[in-house]
Formats: sequence, structure tokens, C-alpha cells
Amino acid sequence: MRSGMVRMRGKSDKGRRWQQEIELELARLLVQEHAAVIVNRHTIRRLFTNREFKHFILERDHYTCHFCGGYGDTIDHLLPRAKGGHTTPLNCVCACNACNQSKADRDLEDFMSSVVAPHK
Ligand SMILES: [Zn+2]
Repeated sequence: MRSGMVRMRGKSDKGRRWQQEIELELARLLVQEHAAVIVNRHTIRRLFTNREFKHFILERDHYTCHFCGGYGDTIDHLLPRAKGGHTTPLNCVCACNACNQSKADRDLEDFMSSVVAPHK
């Protein structure tokens, strides 16, 4: 194991076990946000499969788009993955298709200022 890295174990949606090395910082976030538990000094276990994670976020947000308040059934990263955002509970929100598409990889601040631009 490389230093600064932690082994993360989990299960796929089909029940297959997997493991991968992740950065300590991400491991810490996942544990803090109750998305993973500590197994031992070098290993954490992710508590959700991808499908379960999506379901968890949508239920938590009541299938309501974080941006426009409409019905949403997709997941969006507040800080885009392209900019170093991770798939953790705090960084993920429910979004509708339209907002998800229009936000793409712009960051939240750009996006929000375009949404709330005053009418002329
Ligand atoms: Zn929306």
C-alpha cells in the first residue's frame, strides 16, 4: 500500500465485491459523512452500492431538484468531479435533468449566478 492511501472495499450493484485504493483525504470524508466505516488502520468499507447511494440521495432530498425545486431523479455533484469533487453525501444533491445538463461541469457559483440573474 502506498503511503497516504487507504484501501476501500465495497460491493457492486450486482453484489460483487471490489476494492480499490483511495486517497486518505477521501477516505476521511466518506467516514465523516457516514458513507463508509473503518475496518482497520488501512481499510474502510463503503456502505452503499452505487444504486443504493443514488437512492439515498434522492430520498434525502425528496426527489426535489436542489437548484429549481422541481422534480428531480438524477444526482449532481456540487463541486464537479472534474474539479476534484467527490461522490460523497455532502457533495451530491438531487437535480432535475435540465439543471443537471445545464450545470454540466461549471462550478456552482457560476451556475447559481446564471440561475438567479435578475429579469429585465
Ligand atoms: Zn432543476
